[in-house]
Amino acid sequence: MVDNCLFCKIVAGVIPADKVYEDELVVAFKDIDPQAPVHLLIIPRKHIARITDITDEDNLLIAHIHQVAVMLAKDFDIAEPGFRLVNNCNEDGGQAVYHLHYHLLGGRKMAWPPG
Ligand code: 5GP
Ligand code: ZN
Repeated sequence: MVDNCLFCKIVAGVIPADKVYEDELVVAFKDIDPQAPVHLLIIPRKHIARITDITDEDNLLIAHIHQVAVMLAKDFDIAEPGFRLVNNCNEDGGQAVYHLHYHLLGGRKMAWPPG
């Protein structure tokens, strides 16, 4: 656990979150400021600051995050109508929390291009 990392604290249970799934590798919870009817965050338990910090060691973890995203999309009934899986990297990408996370968004039609 990295001190002063909000999502490490959510993983550790120090800060509460509305968790919808967890296993030995990842935790998924509802975004506190949802941008769509379904807005979940999927994060590794392991602290990785951003997507550009992923290494070969993380290959299984990243594949697993994709599998969990699809499982949750099905659970939340957004797989068939469609959804968006988003990672924001660094300042121009709009990253606010520097613990790797993927937004799973659905329940409405998404716009393109994104803002
Ligand atoms: P980013 O901009 O880094 O890609 O996304 C960070 C996300 O974390 C935002 O969508 C924001 O609403 C969410 N968030 C920030 N603080 C908290 C919190 O304390 N709890 C939860 N559940 N979500 C948070
Ligand atoms: Zn962290």
